[in-house]
Amino acid sequence: MTRFDCDLAILGSGFGGTLLAIIARRLGYSVVLLERGTHPRFAIGESSTPLADFKLAAIADRFGLDWLRPFAKYGPWKAAYPHIHCGLKRGFSFFRHERDRPFAATDGNTNSLLVAASPDADHSDTHWFRADFDANLVSRAVGDGIPYLDQFEVTSVRHDDRGWELGGARADGEVNIRAGFVVDATGTGQVLAKALGLELVDPSTLRARSRAIYSHFTGVARWHDVLEAEQGPAGTAGHTFPCDAAALHQIIDHGWMWVLRFDHGITSAGFSLDPDAHPIRPDESPEMEWRRLLNSYPSLARQFAAAEPVRPFVRTGRLQRRLSRASGPDWALLPHTAGFLDAWLSPGIAQTLFAVNRLGRILAEDWRGPGRERRLTEYGRAVLRELVWVDEITGTCFACFDRFPVMTTASMIYFVAAHYCEERERAGRAGPDDAFLLADDPVYREIAARVFRQALTTPAADADRFTAAVRDELGPYNLCGLCEPRWRNMYPYLGTLPTETSR
Ligand SMILES: Cc1cc2nc3c(=O)[nH]c(=O)nc-3n(C[C@H](O)[C@H](O)[C@H](O)COP(=O)(O)OP(=O)(O)OC[C@H]3O[C@@H](n4cnc5c(N)ncnc54)[C@H](O)[C@@H]3O)c2cc1C
Repeated sequence: MTRFDCDLAILGSGFGGTLLAIIARRLGYSVVLLERGTHPRFAIGESSTPLADFKLAAIADRFGLDWLRPFAKYGPWKAAYPHIHCGLKRGFSFFRHERDRPFAATDGNTNSLLVAASPDADHSDTHWFRADFDANLVSRAVGDGIPYLDQFEVTSVRHDDRGWELGGARADGEVNIRAGFVVDATGTGQVLAKALGLELVDPSTLRARSRAIYSHFTGVARWHDVLEAEQGPAGTAGHTFPCDAAALHQIIDHGWMWVLRFDHGITSAGFSLDPDAHPIRPDESPEMEWRRLLNSYPSLARQFAAAEPVRPFVRTGRLQRRLSRASGPDWALLPHTAGFLDAWLSPGIAQTLFAVNRLGRILAEDWRGPGRERRLTEYGRAVLRELVWVDEITGTCFACFDRFPVMTTASMIYFVAAHYCEERERAGRAGPDDAFLLADDPVYREIAARVFRQALTTPAADADRFTAAVRDELGPYNLCGLCEPRWRNMYPYLGTLPTETSR
């Protein structure tokens, strides 16, 4: 039997758990990092955002992790870590497809939307090739002297007045771990959550409804090339940045597809589907379903005509889940363990980094002090509040998929909040505990609630009037001129230009 006695046991070595382990070790705590699988391994959840990047840079600065900072932007990442694969993300792009008809861009871009998030490639966000990224973090953790046990199966979780006792097994024998605090960073594994018997909120109260089918591919054509092949230069006229250098959202009936290109020829792609409109057919394999969906949308079929999956498809059940608690006096869940909504608008990496930063700050400032319990309670509430907020945004956008111009305006609630928080960061006015996407701002949440209620009943024909009303509602939050008709759904980078120090 191998035994460990530590301050902190972290279950799950995704980037979230591993980064927290590195921070805790750096602060002088004894940590054990436990993983069911092995690295490198495939992981989904790849598309970063400016807010995620700001938080990654803040973590690097706050905890003295200089090696981490280059990962916060595409240019520095490529210069410092060319062997850790990533992809270029200049912003978000959206295209609404009609069944059995090739995509055809309309004059006023009523079926497409581009929102740039960066002024140039160097300062851009990234798609993280998680197999490389997570494995690199784990080797950093091991290099820092953190005991890391992979292929570790938790067999028992007990709690007493001395803390936690985790029992587990590896191929080379049994393991016993005594820990003062446990963090569950296992995502869908939810080891601690299950041991504590934490309740899931009733799934019928979650607004977003989707299941997913996805893989990694070679040979995916650039969407820009498909557009120009089908429509000539008019197909991409007005694009303010290359539409493939983005989190590309291809919207279909009752669902959407993400397409994320990495620089080494691999593309991550997946459908997120309303399970009622797209029930799993018992006689259809994931690969057959994938091909059937592509074949219903000719331009998507063209984009994937030469694509080959490089790993088996993953087909999930309903993605949405949320637990009723995310922390206690000597335990905490990372957001992906506490809940999940959908990949729509890429919130997960940012939510995880916000949470890691919060826990890191509690470790640094209040771990042995009187404020610890209060701050852990606040931590748990913040994680759940942000999940509820992302559900409101995601669920409303999904409910408007049949009215694309209304959906684009509803999605501005996300983009305006994101720009607002980004500008606050650039101006040095962001507090370390500010919530993700204004989740803790009651005035903004109230505006959003009104906009979302209207979105649900606004017909596509009234979209212009709706957009004008939303622009007025957003008022001082709308720092960058979103919802302005003159952009015709093709938003260039509207933020403050980054300075050298903000790189
Ligand atoms: C379909 C889909 C698409 C997504 N797309 C995006 C996106 O584009 N952008 C974005 O920001 N977010 C996205 N996300 C969310 C993103 O995946 C998560 O936010 C992110 O992975 C969280 O990282 P993590 O390290 O906390 O957990 P995870 O990445 O879930 O890692 C959990 C780790 O725990 C390990 N583990 C599991 N069970 C056990 C156990 N019993 N014992 C020990 N270890 C265990 C796993 O092997 C894994 O290594 C997506 C999620 C899904 C499901």
